[in-house]
Amino acid sequence: MTPLIETKALCKKFALDGGGSIFALDGAEIAVFDKEFLCLLGPSGCGKSTWLRIAAGLEKATYGETLFKGVPIEGPSKERGMVFQEYSLLPWRTVAENVALGPEFNGVSKKERRALALHFLTRVGLERFADAKPHELSGGMRQRAMIAVALGCNPKVLIADEPTTALDVTVQAQILRLLLELRDRRGLSIIMITHDLGVVAQT
Ligand code: ADP
Ligand code: MG
Repeated sequence: MTPLIETKALCKKFALDGGGSIFALDGAEIAVFDKEFLCLLGPSGCGKSTWLRIAAGLEKATYGETLFKGVPIEGPSKERGMVFQEYSLLPWRTVAENVALGPEFNGVSKKERRALALHFLTRVGLERFADAKPHELSGGMRQRAMIAVALGCNPKVLIADEPTTALDVTVQAQILRLLLELRDRRGLSIIMITHDLGVVAQT
């Protein structure tokens, strides 16, 4: 079976300001299959976010291959939705207008993208906050809104960098339940960075 995302002998070298360079990744071999929930766990600085950015197509590797369904990744794609940190919601837009961003880029009409935004907000349990501004939401609600924003682009895989860090345990469990449900009901693959073994045990 062809993996959804695969990296082969992936290396990423960063030049350091003070001279010299470091390898953030040195031969990373990771494969993610359809409907898989992959947790990337490791100490701070071991290269998790670097791997994720390369897999999302936001950054280029120095050496090695990064494939999506067997085809080299050249840049970001709607099929790979990133769940960024909570503060990446646009503060001047309502929650629904944030979720409507993906459909807007796809040329969907205003009425239709409002309907889509409400649909995805319902999926994450935030339909009552559609017309709120991001600053009116709690941390956990903003994180769920970010998942709705990513879903708005209709991805095949959700790529999330520590989406539950800095949230209390109840909200963490809520977000995890949501991600598991998206995998089970919508057939999404999920790649999630965490440094919390308790989180991994729940997936
Ligand atoms: P993690 O997410 O596992 O904590 P990162 O992928 O963020 O780790 O970083 C891996 C290593 O690469 C670290 O040593 C970090 O300092 C270095 N690094 C990451 N991004 C850059 C960059 N843009 N320039 C230089 N070094 C970087
Ligand atoms: Mg990181």
